[in-house]
Amino acid sequence: AAPVAFMGGMSRAARSGIIVKSSGTLEQLARARTVAFDKTGTLTYGEPRVTSVQAQAGEGHELLALAAAVEQYSGHPLAAAVVEEALAAGGALPTADDVTEIPANGVRGVVDGRVVVVGSARFVARETGVEPARPPEGHTGVHVGVDGRYAGYVALADELRAETPATMASLHRAGVRTTMMLTGDGEHVARHIAGQAGIDDVRAELLPQDKVDAVRAAAPRPVMMVGDGVNDAPVLAAADVGVAMGARGASAASESADVVITVDDLSRSARAVHIGRRTLRVAW
Ligand code: ADP
Ligand code: MG
Repeated sequence: AAPVAFMGGMSRAARSGIIVKSSGTLEQLARARTVAFDKTGTLTYGEPRVTSVQAQAGEGHELLALAAAVEQYSGHPLAAAVVEEALAAGGALPTADDVTEIPANGVRGVVDGRVVVVGSARFVARETGVEPARPPEGHTGVHVGVDGRYAGYVALADELRAETPATMASLHRAGVRTTMMLTGDGEHVARHIAGQAGIDDVRAELLPQDKVDAVRAAAPRPVMMVGDGVNDAPVLAAADVGVAMGARGASAASESADVVITVDDLSRSARAVHIGRRTLRVAW
C-alpha cells in the first residue's frame, strides 16, 4: 500500500467532519456493498412530535397525562415527546411509582393505584391481550394499557432528514448494492419511511440482538452500519465498518465505531465511501 495516499484520504475525510480511525477502514469503506441504517435519529431527525391522541371510548382525555406520568422516567426520544406534549397541554404530571423500563418495548408503572403500560404495539398487545389500533399512515404509536385494558395511543411523527434520499442515491453510485433499514419501530411506519428514503430492504420490530444478527447475516459484504449512537454500540461493532453519527450520539457508540461523523449530516456517510474509493484509486 501507499501510506501517503491513505494519510491524504484520512485528512481529506477529517476536513469533511469524518473521523476515520485507521487506514484499513478506508479500504473497507471503499469496498462496502451493503449499508445498513438505524431509522430513528439516523434516517430521520430523531425528534418525534406528538400529532394526535386517540383514546378508546370511555378512557377520556387523561390518556396523555397517564402515559406521560410513566414516560417521565424513560430516556427514550418518544418518551420525551410525550412528556413535553402533556406538560404543554395540562401542567403538572401525575406521579408514578414502581416504574420499570423494558428496553425496546416501553415502560410500566403505577399511577393512582392503576398499572399503566406504555410502549410499542407488540408490547402493549402482550400486556393487554388486545391488538392495538393502527395510528395514521407514517406515524409511530405509543400505545397505552391501563389495568390490563387497551386504552388508546399517542401518535408521533419523526421527519425524514432532508439529505436522506440523495444519500441513498450517492451510495448506489459508489457501488453499494443494498441499503437496509434496521428498526425497533413497527412494520407500517418503517415501510413508509423506507419508501420516502429510497431504502431497498426494511427490517422492522427488531430487538437490539435482532439488529446485531441482521448485520452479521447481511450480504453482500463488506457491510457498513450507520447509527446515531443511541443504544446501537453493539450493532456498530458487529458491522465490518461501524459509522457513528457522533454529533449527538453517546460516546460508547463512538468508541465502538470505526468512523465518527462529527456533523449532523447523513450525506457524510456517502462521502466517506467516495473518499475511500478515491484513496484506493490513488494508492494502487
Ligand atoms: P429504534 O429502533 O427506533 O431506535 P427502540 O429499539 O429504542 O427503537 O425501541 C423499539 C420500539 O419500542 C419503539 O419504536 C417504540 O415503539 C417502543 N418503545 C421503546 N421504549 C419506549 C418508551 N419509553 N415509550 C414508548 N415506546 C417505547
Ligand atoms: Mg435509535
